[in-house]
Amino acid sequence: FYDGEYRRYKDVHIGLMTHALHYGTGCFEGIRAYWNPNQEQLFALLIKPHFKRLRNSAKILKIDLPFTDEEMLDAVVELLRRNGYREDVYIRPLAFKSSEEIGVRLHNLTSSFAIYTAPFGAYVDVEKGIRCMVSSWRRIDDNAAPARAKVTGIYVNSALAKTEANENGFDEAIVLTQEGHVSEGSAENIFIIRDGVLVTPPASDNILEGVTRNVLIELAAELGLKVLERSIDRSELYVADEVFLCGTGAQVSPVLEIDRRVIGDGEMGPITRELQKVYFDVCYGRVEERLDWLTPIYK
Ligand code: PMP
Repeated sequence: FYDGEYRRYKDVHIGLMTHALHYGTGCFEGIRAYWNPNQEQLFALLIKPHFKRLRNSAKILKIDLPFTDEEMLDAVVELLRRNGYREDVYIRPLAFKSSEEIGVRLHNLTSSFAIYTAPFGAYVDVEKGIRCMVSSWRRIDDNAAPARAKVTGIYVNSALAKTEANENGFDEAIVLTQEGHVSEGSAENIFIIRDGVLVTPPASDNILEGVTRNVLIELAAELGLKVLERSIDRSELYVADEVFLCGTGAQVSPVLEIDRRVIGDGEMGPITRELQKVYFDVCYGRVEERLDWLTPIYK
């Protein structure tokens, strides 16, 4: 879906001089749709909050989104139907400065809007768990670039951290704020569990305000778990009973080791397991009371 028309991927051409390609002046979303084979239904997860965050990102970048939420939703549904997916899918809306001219700025530029979809399995192995390192790269500070906006250019920060972690033999990076508090993963929010209490950094610690983070806070409360949003010290990671990363891609991913220190007993902890189960039950449309978080694609 490109500037209001449905097109074949190969028929979309974006010019070499496109502003966003050079200056990172775009914003995007990552949304998942889950295939439930028993119900023969594809469920798009939490479309509304993703559109809301896209609008906020666009506002910060001075991009006028040319479509209403209803129109964007129609486009997502139409794209998924036309592709006829019978598997889990990733949905990527993207708004970007498309003027083909030189000059760093946000004003007096035209924008384009696109959505593409692609088959998408697990981003990380959610059963096996992951090993992390605290990155030598710090999370972008909100006064340098807007941390709560999902801006294309800001992902250089994530890419630096992720590659450093992978090249050092770890699965994922955990980045700290300029002040040295835990912020998040390269593309995930983080929760630690200490003495049965879930703790996650507040938005003011330069996190991307994650949709998954928000719903896990809600689901945890429903399970009777206490959740605190407060700053987390680096060494608290090492002594936590459980740690997990969460996001549209990562879903709920247990962290079993950080900086070569085993977390808990080195296996997925009971609270992470409980939350992961509830989360997947919601995603695949198995929780009646949470069907309003899902958009069924097929009639
Ligand atoms: N932080 C960053 C930097 C991310 O890219 C993502 C993935 N969008 C997240 C956190 C998790 O956000 P969400 O749960 O909305 O996918």
